[in-house]
Amino acid sequence: MDIHEYQAKEILARFGVATPKGALAYSPEQAAYRAREIGGKLWVVKAQVHTGGRGKAGGVKLCRSEDEVMDAADELLGKKLVTHQSGPAGKIVGRLYIEGGVAIAKELYLGFVLDRKSERVMVVASSEGGMEIEEIAAEKPDSIVKVSVEPAVGMQAFQAREIAFALGLKPSQIQSAVNALMGCYRAFEELDATMLEINPLIVTEDDHVMALDAKMTFDDNALFRHPAVAELRDKSQEDPRETHANDRGLSYVGLTGKIGCIVNGAGLAMATMDMIKLAGGEPANFLDIGGGATPERVAKAFKLVTMDKNVEAILVNIFAGINRCDWVAEGVVQALEKSPVGVPVIVRLAGTHVEEGRRILARSGLPIIRANTLAEAAERAVAAWKNNANTVGLKVVNA
Ligand code: ADP
Ligand code: MG
Repeated sequence: MDIHEYQAKEILARFGVATPKGALAYSPEQAAYRAREIGGKLWVVKAQVHTGGRGKAGGVKLCRSEDEVMDAADELLGKKLVTHQSGPAGKIVGRLYIEGGVAIAKELYLGFVLDRKSERVMVVASSEGGMEIEEIAAEKPDSIVKVSVEPAVGMQAFQAREIAFALGLKPSQIQSAVNALMGCYRAFEELDATMLEINPLIVTEDDHVMALDAKMTFDDNALFRHPAVAELRDKSQEDPRETHANDRGLSYVGLTGKIGCIVNGAGLAMATMDMIKLAGGEPANFLDIGGGATPERVAKAFKLVTMDKNVEAILVNIFAGINRCDWVAEGVVQALEKSPVGVPVIVRLAGTHVEEGRRILARSGLPIIRANTLAEAAERAVAAWKNNANTVGLKVVNA
């Protein structure tokens, strides 16, 4: 789960990491009021969206008066911000963070990630802040410092000092940098984060080290241990299809193709997507409905897949091990009888009671396209989609 910059900063501040003075606003008037509360002569109005690259996309605005703050807020609120990280759909700005403008002497990069290979938290830092880590890795690889943390003892002050020195900080800045590094590590570790990125971590003109930006992602499977973190979820920033699926215990990832997939098992779902591509199509989603594949789950899956208006054919691929094909077939038939989907449906069943399952599909009288193998299923799905697309096209021409 991702959270907003202002939420991450609130968390980090609790762990002793310095951040600029700031406050949240939902309207231009509130933004101006917040600016007055913060004081000073320079403010930054920052769009709160779950994506990076806001600055370059116009989502971070430097303002020199309350009027400018109000105008910036007016422009940003409700706007769809498309950044190079957000994907073409962009993210709608519903909240703003108003922050005091800070005089930056130096911009650094600081990241904490889970390195699954070494099974350690990896600290990644660079003296080249402001750029993205991918760019830094490509253009200034020598500036990157990596330190892995021994989980039994956690990050040690000497490691933080080593990083601070490697970043070229002056002695007068080291203590403040160590505070920031240790605070970030503790927040990451104690709250079961999987990613924490401070870009830029800055050194101010009076030698303070501060988090000017903050991005934090949490392990969904550990959220039950941190109800206060779970409450920070902002559904408006998530893909509505994925939110809908997660709320119903289905594992769904929205994609941009035309062929919807309903599959049991993550591995089979991946293989199904591969086969669709091989057959010349593009999957509209990844969907693992789990081992159960009860009629209710199948019905939910149809509903979910057809929420995506791009879907022009649906491929159901079920391998019944513990499950039974006849039950799944019943589920498919019941779901389609109750709410027809309006696009071709291709069903491939394999495993326990497969013959009975196929008979149920055939007997239903529904226009279900059946397939015996995965390859056949994918080919028929792509063919049905192309056919369907053609007839839809014709209808439009005739109309
Ligand atoms: P993003 O990474 O999404 O573009 P950042 O929070 O990193 O957003 O902001 C982009 C840039 O805006 C920063 O690199 C920094 O130069 C500037 N900036 C952000 N917040 C402040 C602030 N409080 N004071 C001064 N400059 C800021
Ligand atoms: Mg940033």
